[in-house]
Amino acid sequence: MPAFYDTHAHLGRPEFAADLPQVLARAADAGITKIVTIATDQESSERAIALAERFPNVFAAVGWHPSHAAEAPEDLRPALRELAKCPRVIALGETGLDYYRRPSRQAGGTAADDARYKAKQIDLFRQHLEVAVELGLPCVIHQRDSLEDAIAQVQPFAGRVGGVFHCFSDDAAAMRRILALGLLVSFTGNLTFRNSQIIRDALAATPLGKFMLETDCPFLAPMPYRGKRCEPAYVKEISQVAAQVKGCSLDELSAATCTTAEKFFGKLSGRS
Ligand SMILES: [Zn+2]
Ligand SMILES: [Zn+2]
Repeated sequence: MPAFYDTHAHLGRPEFAADLPQVLARAADAGITKIVTIATDQESSERAIALAERFPNVFAAVGWHPSHAAEAPEDLRPALRELAKCPRVIALGETGLDYYRRPSRQAGGTAADDARYKAKQIDLFRQHLEVAVELGLPCVIHQRDSLEDAIAQVQPFAGRVGGVFHCFSDDAAAMRRILALGLLVSFTGNLTFRNSQIIRDALAATPLGKFMLETDCPFLAPMPYRGKRCEPAYVKEISQVAAQVKGCSLDELSAATCTTAEKFFGKLSGRS
């Protein structure tokens, strides 16, 4: 059975509180041999570390999701450095920019509110990138409705920091701009949705070796589980569609995506 990794899961979320050991057993049965559990704030960073210390094939990323920027301290860097001391921490994130729920889209929100909202996210994103360079860790990058600003933030760090634009849902032109900065993209279950031809076209244009697979579970369950709780085992369904799109065998896709992930997350190989 070809092995795959889930490079982006939220195993610390309440959706998995009741049955995580069974979820991990199903992942193993499906050939999903390594999982990176991703944080979204201080508390979930600590939970990610605890899970990575408990389960040998689970690794942790620590950081603050842009949607939680309002609650984040002004200077996150000391906390990131402290969390990253744990040898099971292999990346920072998820960080990035998310303008989808910007204040002007809510009742009473103004353009000035938007500007403050974006500025705080941009500041926190830059802090993640700075600490990533300092510690030699890659960044897991989230972007929604913010592609231009996200690329502009990463640009000055190009060549100094590894990064992946996760849950890649843009077109092939955007993918090429990201790859040109020395970064990667990763694809999630929305690759399998009927209305996602643009994402499949982007994947078709992405060279093997430049992308990884992920679930972003408990969100974005692939077909035929769309709308249900997602879990790492479903990388299998994502990999089947990805292999079709790439016109390669599952073995080739397994070798390419696992090697890419091992290289990207430098500490994914060793146990500690
Ligand atoms: Zn995300
Ligand atoms: Zn996520």
